[in-house]
Parts: sequence; C-alpha cells; structure tokens
Amino acid sequence: KAMSDDEGTGEDYLFKIVIIGDSAVGKSNLLSRYARNEFSPHSKATIGVEFQTQTMEINGKEVKAQIWDTAGQERFRAVTSAYYRGAAGALIVYDISRRTTFDSVGRWLDELKTHSDTTVARILVGNKCDLETIRDVSVEEGKSLAEAEGLFFMETSALDSTNVNKAFELVIREIYNNVS
Ligand code: GDP
Ligand code: MG
Repeated sequence: KAMSDDEGTGEDYLFKIVIIGDSAVGKSNLLSRYARNEFSPHSKATIGVEFQTQTMEINGKEVKAQIWDTAGQERFRAVTSAYYRGAAGALIVYDISRRTTFDSVGRWLDELKTHSDTTVARILVGNKCDLETIRDVSVEEGKSLAEAEGLFFMETSALDSTNVNKAFELVIREIYNNVS
C-alpha cells in the first residue's frame, strides 16, 4: 500500500489518503484548500476528479500524497470499497456546527475498518471552526472521541485555512513513520 521508489528521479514515496464523513461537512473544500489553496462557497456535488496529489519533503525524501475525495456518493451511503482500497491514511471529517455529522463518525470509522488495513493513519477533523457562534460540538467532545478511538484530532477551517495544512501533514508524516 505504500509504494517506494528509490530510483532517484521519481518520488520516493506515494501514499493514498481518503477523506470521509457526512455530506457537506467540507471534505472537498479541505482538499481544494490543501492542494490548490482554493475555497468555494458553493457546494459542488462533483468536481470531476477522483483525487489530487500534493508533494512534501520529509527527511530529504519526496513524499507524494494522493488524496481521494468522494463525488458525493456519501449522501447515499454508497462509498465503494474501491474508494478505500490501498489507503494508508484517512481524514474522518465532521462539521462542528452540525451535531448529526459528529454522531456519524462511529459509522464512518466502522466502514473504514471494514474496507482497509488496521495500520491506516487516522485523524478526526472537526471542520468549520470559523463558525464559533453556532458551534454545536465542543472541542472537548472531539478530543475525547479521538482519544477513545485512538485517532489524532484537529479542528480546521477550509474557509480561513486554520490547521488545514497541519491536518494533512500530520497524517502524511504518520504514514511515513509507519513505513520507514
Ligand atoms: P463535502 O460535501 O463534505 O465535500 O462539503 P463541501 O466541501 O462541498 O462543503 C459544503 C459546504 O460547506 C459548502 O457550502 C462550503 O462552502 C462550506 N464549507 C466548507 N468548509 C467550510 C469551512 O471551513 N467553514 C465554513 N464556514 N464553511 C465551509
Ligand atoms: Mg464533496
């Protein structure tokens, strides 16, 4: 699942990472913020690409992350096993202003478990932390769920960029630590 390439010219590592969570929690915008530094105020069901890649350097190695986004199929609870196949990392995202999306986290974790290896690097992401005035899930609740499930945790905002790079980079570094 982690492909290594030490021929010198190509990337040294390629990791697949999936983003999961209920519809409209901000999955697509987290990815576009991270990969292209873009944010869209309008929800688009499909952006037409399966994944985007982003490269970072760890210990002098070029590490390429291939980050997969759903095309809206989570609305119908129809994320396929192909989506999870080969994933070395996962972001499980909820919206801090909508409790129902936090209540779904357990189901997403179960689905991830069913479809992947036990060694997947996982982070729980409470997105839309810019919406403090209508917060529906406390930081403490997020933290304690993450602790109970053995996940990293971060609150992010794809809108104002808070912690977005940090969240992705934490997962990528953890995968790197798992395989190197
Ligand atoms: P997805 O269905 O999980 O991929 O969610 P989207 O990325 O399409 O976002 C759903 C809606 O939430 C869109 O209207 C976005 O503009 C909005 N959104 C996404 N991230 C944030 C955020 O961090 N803060 C705020 N305030 N809105 C966000
Ligand atoms: Mg989306």
